[in-house]
Amino acid sequence: MKRVSVLGATGSIGQNTLDLIRRNPAQFEVVALTGGRNVAQLAKDAIAMRADIAVIGQADLLEDLRAALSGSGVEAAAGDAAIVEAASRPADWVMSAIVGAAGLRPGLAALEQGATLALANKESLVAAAPLLLNAARANDARILPVDSEHSAIFQALVGEDLDTVQRVIITASGGAFRDWPLEKLASATIEQASTHPNWDMGQRITIDSASMFNKALEVIEAREFFGLAPDQIEVLIHPESVVHALVGFCDGGLMAHVGPPDMRHAIGYALNWPKRTELPVDRLDLAGIGQLSFEAPDLARYPALRLAREVMKLGGLSGAIFNAAKERALDHFIGGRIGFCDMTSLVEEVLTRQTPGHGHNDAEITLDTVLKADQMARNCVDDVMREQAD
Ligand code: NAD
Ligand code: MG
Repeated sequence: MKRVSVLGATGSIGQNTLDLIRRNPAQFEVVALTGGRNVAQLAKDAIAMRADIAVIGQADLLEDLRAALSGSGVEAAAGDAAIVEAASRPADWVMSAIVGAAGLRPGLAALEQGATLALANKESLVAAAPLLLNAARANDARILPVDSEHSAIFQALVGEDLDTVQRVIITASGGAFRDWPLEKLASATIEQASTHPNWDMGQRITIDSASMFNKALEVIEAREFFGLAPDQIEVLIHPESVVHALVGFCDGGLMAHVGPPDMRHAIGYALNWPKRTELPVDRLDLAGIGQLSFEAPDLARYPALRLAREVMKLGGLSGAIFNAAKERALDHFIGGRIGFCDMTSLVEEVLTRQTPGHGHNDAEITLDTVLKADQMARNCVDDVMREQAD
């Protein structure tokens, strides 16, 4: 029996994770499920999966959750601290699928109790890689990638010597606006940005795919996960979304991971690792797809990729600043207060104001400095917007 917890259980990754767990009830025992606001979904899953505890992020929903769980024997709790407490309950495997930097503390708590952390929450690694990696080391815990590209790299590296890796190539679909004329991008609406050509994901990561902020985070994530130098990480646009990543070795060979665009593959690989098991994903019909295409990304269309390179050069707390500014700009785009292209210009302005010469680059990375940098970056986005409105 593997004891598992799912943080962010009500979201897209969380629901896909529960789907896999549910298919093999004899293998798993559910410890904790957490959600942000969706009480009905959380309670339904916690009861069906006989979880020990269900936690809702929004504190004022505690009574609703208690009512929904009443008589089930599932414990109810609410608020950020309760999510961290749930993550620290002994488990063998914890899925980190909260969206945004909010996933950092629960992820750390899971590592501190020695659980294997299946990391979908790339934001925590971008903001605070040394904290997660040190917590894993200190507690003899493991972090397994769930992002499809990083799972692909991880799988291509099985049995290989890391010293022989020359480069990795992560692919990107190009998002919703791959084929739009550049001058039209500024007028893209929230609805248009929230539709992905190939993947079915949460709204925030879908918009981040259109702006390529998602790929920018993933480049930094790859650097941290696999200890690569920035110039070893390449991005290619691959509209078919079936080659998730490639690893290039010193002999010139490339190992590619190919599979359907279904997150249950990467989640299932992390859930069953080191074993490979049967998964309910479609089998690819390569003859049906016919052709696979690749092209270099246009940095004028995707300035976020240029910013990722800047962030890797700056180091220190710039990852936390970059991610938080992006999250805040995305809040404003979803709220209808700024346009699609304003997200990148706001993030760039925050990076310019907050990183060089501000001591953040070489500041020590602790939970406290990361959380402060995160808050400062969010405030800075609002400051820039106020100045622009004046
Ligand atoms: P989602 O929005 O569908 O779900 C997010 C989950 O986090 C929900 O359960 C939500 O209630 C919860 N949540 C949100 N804010 C919270 C807060 N402040 N406190 C506590 N809980 C909160 O997102 P998703 O698409 O499932 O993505 C989850 C993570 O996985 C993200 O880090 C994303 O980048 C990553 N990821 C997702 C996909 C995908 O296919 N969806 C692929 C790769 C990586
Ligand atoms: Mg990805």
